[in-house]
Amino acid sequence: MSEKLIVIGSGPSGLTASIYAARANLSPLLFEGFQAGGIPGGQLMITTIIENFPGFKDGIGGQQLMADMRQQALRFGARILTEDIESVKLDTHPFSITSSGGDIFEACSLVISTGATAKRLPLDSEKKFFGRGISACAVCDGALPVFRNKPIAVIGGGDTAVEEALHLSKFGSRIFLIHRRDSLRASTIMQDRALKHQKIEVLWNKVVEEFVGDKLLGGVRLKDTRTGSVSFLEVNGAFEAIGHRPNTGFLNGQLRLTESGYVFTHPGTTMTSVEGVFAGGDVQDFRYRQAITAAGSGCMAALDAQKWLTEKGFC
Ligand code: NAP
Repeated sequence: MSEKLIVIGSGPSGLTASIYAARANLSPLLFEGFQAGGIPGGQLMITTIIENFPGFKDGIGGQQLMADMRQQALRFGARILTEDIESVKLDTHPFSITSSGGDIFEACSLVISTGATAKRLPLDSEKKFFGRGISACAVCDGALPVFRNKPIAVIGGGDTAVEEALHLSKFGSRIFLIHRRDSLRASTIMQDRALKHQKIEVLWNKVVEEFVGDKLLGGVRLKDTRTGSVSFLEVNGAFEAIGHRPNTGFLNGQLRLTESGYVFTHPGTTMTSVEGVFAGGDVQDFRYRQAITAAGSGCMAALDAQKWLTEKGFC
């Protein structure tokens, strides 16, 4: 028998979609993932305290928030399987979904909420200090006391890096934008803002060779990409902003993607290029990428799916 709705992904988008779908008696089956693209719960599982999710005036730990959302979905009857999805078949209806356990499921509608993975520098020292001064999200972690009035590095030269540098300028004493080339990739307006900002200094043609410190990050060893010379920069924070990779591999080209590789959704909706398949959260959103916007679009996806199922009379 076909499932009415299968939700793939267990970050704020997938769990919110499941809460809404469960309350609409769709009895959603949620695949929370196991290893591919991260861990169940998504990127918030590697965030410390979340201070900007409305309703938590003193902040809430990322893991706690996801555990609570999961419990809320279960409470209304969502069923959760801790498996990855290996592949989907979207050219037949009901859709066919193969899990990492080798089981095949059928679904009348699908919500894709597999998120995106922040790219990280492939350095052993990066792994050592991630969460101890290194972060991949300035909006999530920038306001933490450990970064207040301290020098901070941002690595990258795109819109995200500049946006993060501007955001961090509210907290840090000085922001060093470390970029591997001699021109930024970011849009002109964002470049102007960064280059004119008194607290932001761009260090051109530099790559991080090593993150150094004791228990917490204390600085970075930089290599000049032109001369090869090595220098040390004292910083208490380092924010990696070298791009995200939306987790779309399992779709195997069956959904239209945007130029940057995100799942295309019709503007103002969560409808994808295939009828009955909806997408919410970071897998379709390169612009906002916040827990609250992911939750919001997960809600939209469940409502869009519910309406579509009712109109078509499926399942
Ligand atoms: P991006 O545009 O791909 O930029 C990534 C940056 O990281 C580039 O400057 C790249 O250097 C650098 N980089 C990549 N790998 C690196 C490595 N191993 N070591 C050092 N540097 C590395 O990613 P993004 O900034 O996250 O933006 C993604 C998309 O979202 C873009 O289309 C962007 O315009 C959009 N976006 C829009 C907004 C907005 O409209 N408000 C905000 C954020 C993002 P190179 O330049 O040398 O390649």
